[in-house]
Amino acid sequence: MKALAKLKREEGIWMTDRPQPEVGHNDLLIKINKTAICGTDIHIYNWDEWSQKTIPVPMVTGHEYAGEVVGIGEEVVGFEIGDRVSGEGHITCGHCRNCRAGRRHLCRNTVGVGVNRDGAFAEYLVIPAFNAFKLPDEISDELAAIFDPFGNAVHTALAFDLVGEDVLITGAGPIGIMAAAVAKHVGARHVVITDINDYRLSLAKQMGATRTVNVAKEQLEEVMKQLKMEEGFDVGLEMSGVPVAFKSMLKNMNHGGKIAMLGIPPGEMAIDWSEVIFKGLDIKGIYGREMFETWYKMASLIQSGLDLTPMITHRFHVDDFQQGFDIMRSGQSGKVVLNWD
Ligand code: NAD
Ligand code: ZN
Repeated sequence: MKALAKLKREEGIWMTDRPQPEVGHNDLLIKINKTAICGTDIHIYNWDEWSQKTIPVPMVTGHEYAGEVVGIGEEVVGFEIGDRVSGEGHITCGHCRNCRAGRRHLCRNTVGVGVNRDGAFAEYLVIPAFNAFKLPDEISDELAAIFDPFGNAVHTALAFDLVGEDVLITGAGPIGIMAAAVAKHVGARHVVITDINDYRLSLAKQMGATRTVNVAKEQLEEVMKQLKMEEGFDVGLEMSGVPVAFKSMLKNMNHGGKIAMLGIPPGEMAIDWSEVIFKGLDIKGIYGREMFETWYKMASLIQSGLDLTPMITHRFHVDDFQQGFDIMRSGQSGKVVLNWD
């Protein structure tokens, strides 16, 4: 089968031929229709320090996908040939304390599809049936292909009550933008999003942010004055992984504010802890998606009218994958979908 893989320990990704994966007793074999390119795939493409430490070579990459069930392991119940599915990219152990308590997203033995084992940029993918999510008819394969990052956005945005709250989102990458859309959809008042990339900020505006701030040109504090936000933000969603962005968030939170942190800083990050202590801030780390509450919420948000389609700004056939990676690397895109049909 055709597969996009990391074949060399250097910048790039390569189309290759791989044997179709074998279906174990508890697995599903999925024929891939659409995949999307994640920021993680770009790290792997760039072969940065994290990738060098983490990624086995050779490995088929990719973990954002939608497809159709074409093979079912003998122990699997609840799936039929022809079911349309996407899937949770974190494969959990099932026997640690958190797994046994149903808190699978906190499994200490998580293995990542397309990060630690072969992924979805291929004609066929095998995953444990437990990880598959059956798609309602009204959710297209294309939208389902971005459910993995949409899930990061939903998990983070719904970590705290947003109804009537003033929300600051730092980082208008695809996940930050989708979080802005969710925040607005569920009833936040001001949804202010920051970045240094005007293309992405304008997409964030289109998706529901009430105010965008290019922090290279404008002061967040000035914007808060214009919005008559004397007291500061109630909820912060950190989605950049950039230390100065997090510091400005801490500075502009109201007392008793709540912060959900998804963005991954490049290394240790020093902050002024007195902001946290004297303001009595709650800070919560967010990893992945809740299994499978986040997935149900994602489907329901779309069924209740959240329109994610403008997020997909570019589509390519997988044979033109290089163009897809180039546009994603340029920062001048929302989500980029690769078509495997
Ligand atoms: P991304 O890199 O596309 O987005 C980050 C954005 O931050 C970019 O648009 C960038 O221009 C912007 N930025 C840079 N400097 C800034 C500044 N000073 N202020 C505000 N914004 C600034 O990433 P993404 O795919 O949208 O993911 C968002 C973050 O979440 C990344 O850090 C990613 O590594 C992380 N992530 C975490 C998890 C998890 O499970 N915790 C999962 C997926 C992604
Ligand atoms: Zn576990």
